[in-house]
Amino acid sequence: MSKTSGPASEVAPLPWDSPLAALPRLTPARLRALHGAGLQTVHDLIRHYPRRHEDRRKFPAFPTDATPEPLCLRGTVQSVRSTYFGRRSQFTLVLAEKSGRVPAATVQCRWFNLRYLSKILQAGQDLVIHGRPRALKKGGLVFDHPDFEVLESDAPDSALIHLNRITPVHPSIGIWSPRALRRLIFETLGQLSGEDVPQLWPADRNLTTTAALRAIHFPESEDEFEAARTHLAREELFEMQCVLARQRARQTGGRAPVIPRKSKLLARFLKALPFDLTTAQKRVLTHIFDDLATGYPMNRLLHGDVGSGKTVVAATAMLGAIAAGHSAALMAPTQVLAHQHYDNFRKLFEPLGVPVVLRTAARQEKSGTAGPRIVIGTHALLFAPQTVGRPALVVIDEQHKFGVRQRAKLSAQKPHPHVLVMSATPIPRTLALTLYGDLDLSLLDEMPPGRLPIRTLVRAPEKLGEAAAFLRQKLDEGRQAYLVYPVIEEGVRTGLKAATAEYARWSERLAPHSCALLHGRLKADEKDVIMASFRAGETRVLVSTTVIEVGIDVANATVLLVENAERFGLAQLHQLRGRVGRGADQSWCILLAGEDAGDKIERLKILEEASDGFSIAEADLELRGPGDLLGTAQTGLPPVRLAKLPRDLPLLEEARSAAQKLMAHDPELAAHPALRARLGFWEKQLFAGVA
Ligand code: ADP
Ligand code: MG
Repeated sequence: MSKTSGPASEVAPLPWDSPLAALPRLTPARLRALHGAGLQTVHDLIRHYPRRHEDRRKFPAFPTDATPEPLCLRGTVQSVRSTYFGRRSQFTLVLAEKSGRVPAATVQCRWFNLRYLSKILQAGQDLVIHGRPRALKKGGLVFDHPDFEVLESDAPDSALIHLNRITPVHPSIGIWSPRALRRLIFETLGQLSGEDVPQLWPADRNLTTTAALRAIHFPESEDEFEAARTHLAREELFEMQCVLARQRARQTGGRAPVIPRKSKLLARFLKALPFDLTTAQKRVLTHIFDDLATGYPMNRLLHGDVGSGKTVVAATAMLGAIAAGHSAALMAPTQVLAHQHYDNFRKLFEPLGVPVVLRTAARQEKSGTAGPRIVIGTHALLFAPQTVGRPALVVIDEQHKFGVRQRAKLSAQKPHPHVLVMSATPIPRTLALTLYGDLDLSLLDEMPPGRLPIRTLVRAPEKLGEAAAFLRQKLDEGRQAYLVYPVIEEGVRTGLKAATAEYARWSERLAPHSCALLHGRLKADEKDVIMASFRAGETRVLVSTTVIEVGIDVANATVLLVENAERFGLAQLHQLRGRVGRGADQSWCILLAGEDAGDKIERLKILEEASDGFSIAEADLELRGPGDLLGTAQTGLPPVRLAKLPRDLPLLEEARSAAQKLMAHDPELAAHPALRARLGFWEKQLFAGVA
């Protein structure tokens, strides 16, 4: 290979789908590290996108003051020093500017507990650092834990690959130094020929995908980078939307039982309900029964904020199936919730003579009846048809742990069931188009009448005493409460309050009111006993983790207190808050920040003002980015790595309509073999084991 091989040089071309082992000069250890990072082929490697770029065309003069923005500096290591305090260590280095000024300007760099640095960094080296300088009390500037790279300026590729350019910094991989990894990617890109990487998105005539891949790593200018990013972002969104469009076609392709809306059973049920359905509930039931009557499988998402009354909608649709002579299943994400549904459904349905059975991992109740029945279970059991039978309608409650992958698996069952997915997770439009792109959407945008808004209070940790007094007063008045903690047990380092330890404290503080501890590590029957006692009002206070996040419905519980509230996402706190405010009484949500919460308290205050899930979800999306919600590794969808949502919503919509058009015209992708191969790859992932 030529020393100056680069994006434009002529070397033996390398097919983009070659295994990485085909690359020259890779030691087994280095190859293993790449594999360990999930990179198998050349294609994977060149899509190991930079996490950022450094402008190394011209380095700024060494600063004299702290700066809010990170800086990229180049200098010479003047001195290094290691200090140890017991098991802890500190490595300090003085970096001097190479300007010729006398005396040279210097900055300090410090790293803690990284002993190996003393083997890598030595006086005399030429170094590039990237970080944010802080002023030291005794004068001078310090960079704590800056990114760094040793420049071997006499190395022939240094100027070409690492310097005098907008230089990519890649996510690190095992034993690979930033330089070595950059060089590998640079050389690999150089070996690709123009048509090599298949173009998935045909619309962009100015840029080939291969050129875009080169420019995303090694752009000549910011404009070139942005054009490349847009091209590749659009392609990744298109790929994802194609997977969804095909999934949708698969879901709606088969036949499914016809379930009519009108029946004596349904009429009796609705008449016996203790309340009237809201207008919104009636409207979504119309959507659902319209779907159920077509003879094709329904695939619908019912979205309604916590407490909007989704359960009764599900119950009505399920009873429709029973009346038409079929079974129906309701699957919940947790056993606690499955049990609650089981109790409620028995109350609703047994007077009508409709059998209800419970199926959880812990309880495989034998049912006496062979005819149509209501099965309540946990998500996992859905894929064990011998336990749930072949229901004509499957309702998935609180879908956020039930993604595209699980739905894909469900839709592979023959015959197709009708599927109703229910969620309270407020979904911004961007995410609705991605995570639920395979579903039709119905909104339950109205609360049952007579609910008082929940009063939400954000407080500093010192207010714990006051909060406890308030809690006691509410308990004395006969109400119940939830106390929520971020972890089950105290970790060594977390500094977080833990449910187990706090349970002991509250039991003392609130005596004689009885407290119970509920968390995910308890056995199913232990959880049952605790929940039953809380529902019956014998246990007054439930000290818990987020296991109570979804679904639990106890109207007499009117106080929710969360400690270390800053550790939860806003959308999650909103879910938790939905545990109260379920009856006619005023409810309270008290969010206590932890000692180290700092300015995160401000973020929590959004919850004091906002009561609807959508605005909270938008705020959360702005604050935290879509990463959490788009956890595509879990969903089985192609990853979104370059598209920035919600900013790239227009690209997403463009990609979606292009995908739909393509699937309508060429569902087998006869004219798009490269895309067919990519989709085949993703679909294999999608249908691989469902957790
Ligand atoms: P979610 O949508 O969060 O699952 P639920 O289905 O648990 O909400 O309903 C919350 C509470 O509201 C339940 O106690 C339920 O009985 C009650 N409810 C549902 N619909 C109505 C209605 N139309 N009028 C009055 N109360 C209702
Ligand atoms: Mg619910």
